[in-house]
Amino acid sequence: MNEYDIISLGLGIQPPWRIIGQVLDTSRNPHELRIKIKADRGSKYPCPVCAKMCKAHDFQEKTWRHLNFFQNHCYITAKVPRTKCPEHGIKTAKVPWARKGSRFTLLFEQAAMVLVKEMPVMAAARIMGITDKRLWRIVSHHVERAISDLDLS
Ligand SMILES: [Zn+2]
Repeated sequence: MNEYDIISLGLGIQPPWRIIGQVLDTSRNPHELRIKIKADRGSKYPCPVCAKMCKAHDFQEKTWRHLNFFQNHCYITAKVPRTKCPEHGIKTAKVPWARKGSRFTLLFEQAAMVLVKEMPVMAAARIMGITDKRLWRIVSHHVERAISDLDLS
């Protein structure tokens, strides 16, 4: 098991996705650890609507903020495919490490939610190294989802 395998496990990365590199950008303060993820060439991806395996129509590079690595901020970058489903057309594929539309990884959001249970949002945001506005956005998403999961009948 190498260092990439360990990071992959933590992020829930599975084939066709794999980590292809990392770079520590020391020109920034705090330093930024950037992890690159790529899918193997010619891979097929599930349509986000019906899960039918489709070819990629094109790719869009996206970046997510991940948990700090010691004192360094950590970002994940990947070229995310848009699937071309015969029934649902062109849609952005889901990635295993983040929810749709979020600029943070699931692990980052989880850690943030643990903190806000213990302290005010301002304090939690300072620890996570993000603005309180961004943290509120994460919190409201998860609170809304928790409410919609409740059986109100
Ligand atoms: Zn589909």
